[in-house]
Amino acid sequence: MYYAPKLKQTSRTYSVPNRRPLHLCFFSARQFDQIPQIAKLPHDMRFAMQVVARVLPFRVNQYVIEDLIDWDNVPDDPIFRLTFPQQDMLTTEHFDRMANFLRKGADDKQIRTVANEIRSELNPHPAGQQILNVPVLDGRPLKGMQHKYRETVLFFPRQGQTCHTYCTFCFRWAQFVGIDELRFSASETSDLHRYLAGHKDVTDLLLTGGDPMVMKTRLLREYIEPLLQPEFEHIQTIRIGTKSLSYWPYRYLTDKDADDFLRLLESLVHGGKHVAIMAHYNHWKEMETPVVREAIRRVLDTGAVIRSQSPLVANINDDPEIWARMWRTQVRLGIIPYYMFMARDTGACHYFELPLARAWEIYRKAFMQVSGLARTVRGPSMSAGPGKIEVQGIAEINNEKVFVLRFIQGRNPDWVQRPFFARFDPEATWLNHLRPAFGAEKFFYEDEYQAICEKERGTKIPDIGTA
Ligand SMILES: *Cc1c(COP(=O)(O)O)cnc(C)c1O
Ligand code: SF4
Repeated sequence: MYYAPKLKQTSRTYSVPNRRPLHLCFFSARQFDQIPQIAKLPHDMRFAMQVVARVLPFRVNQYVIEDLIDWDNVPDDPIFRLTFPQQDMLTTEHFDRMANFLRKGADDKQIRTVANEIRSELNPHPAGQQILNVPVLDGRPLKGMQHKYRETVLFFPRQGQTCHTYCTFCFRWAQFVGIDELRFSASETSDLHRYLAGHKDVTDLLLTGGDPMVMKTRLLREYIEPLLQPEFEHIQTIRIGTKSLSYWPYRYLTDKDADDFLRLLESLVHGGKHVAIMAHYNHWKEMETPVVREAIRRVLDTGAVIRSQSPLVANINDDPEIWARMWRTQVRLGIIPYYMFMARDTGACHYFELPLARAWEIYRKAFMQVSGLARTVRGPSMSAGPGKIEVQGIAEINNEKVFVLRFIQGRNPDWVQRPFFARFDPEATWLNHLRPAFGAEKFFYEDEYQAICEKERGTKIPDIGTA
């Protein structure tokens, strides 16, 4: 049994410099005009935002508005683009279709119909593998869980299927606009625990959402705390994927159950678990406020670690200087850089997507500038059907220009870390655009992947979601 001396208590009182505690309050698309900073923007721009927000999800809280966005730099400010809809996020055709309805004063029902038409044209279910990776317990598929890679189970708690603010690039947008009623929602705590108890090769549980940190500590505790019991000895790591360390740092400071949450993390650490907060940061600007720095420090004080991950997105962070500064800031604050992702082909992807070649160049140029302690970050990586595939580089071999690729994670663990090659294509933005190099017909994993898919599809598991 692991024993650690009692860590110092972190339940001091916190005074965040010059700041009264904020209470969480959201603005949705209907409340645009109540945001004073928005009311000052030109009419055309406000109208365009209304149009886009009728199609794509929109929600923002006061902290993001007051502390993260630089309103003197709107519309170019990256956090503004990360959270507020922009005209170009819809194609001209989609934009005009919705704009015309709004101009002629269509009623809510008509608007909803048009919105749903447009949404269905935005590839709401990327990766098209809606029946794969679903764990089965007593012959029954488990909603709200995914078990794709041997070591790690993903869990989507029902109460965590929303976020403190929505990202404009979010690949889970379909569930926030309600066309995908809570596809992932898991209701049964006992299902999770029974599944984990029966799978001794699982070492990691990853709670994800939405954002599980919208949940009250009391609920999080019900899911997590039982894992301290002996039958879960094999679960060594508990990860929580969250954007709250950017969008709502008060979750760790002044929310009523903030201290209680930190106590929970401490008790897990004392009980011998590794606790990793998988923090979602897209830009160094999210880590500059005194409030967020205090929140980070409080989390680290519990003995948990924070690892960071982010997609690479055009118009927000497609610049090596931004990434280098972001990784340096993270190392300084005690956060371990972990993943750089390629954006998924869904929603407003035409606004955000970048060619793989450009992504690799940004990664390399940022990587070059940071010390070894920030070089823990892997990427650019595509979370695709067969696995997480990283672009390792661009090379010329026997006069053929190629992408050098590897699996970081594979549906079959045996695929991991074997270099393989695709023909260079300067425009390719995703795995499905790539063709094998050197005249080969298929990538080495394709037949086996096909077989895995057929086998799983054969079990007729109902539709539950992506990747
Ligand atoms: C990324 C991912 C994981 C975690 O993989 P790690 O390499 O352990 O970080 C687990 N499950 C799914 C479905 C994923 O996409
Ligand atoms: S925090 Fe994550 S799940 Fe929530 S909107 Fe942003 S990308 Fe989507």
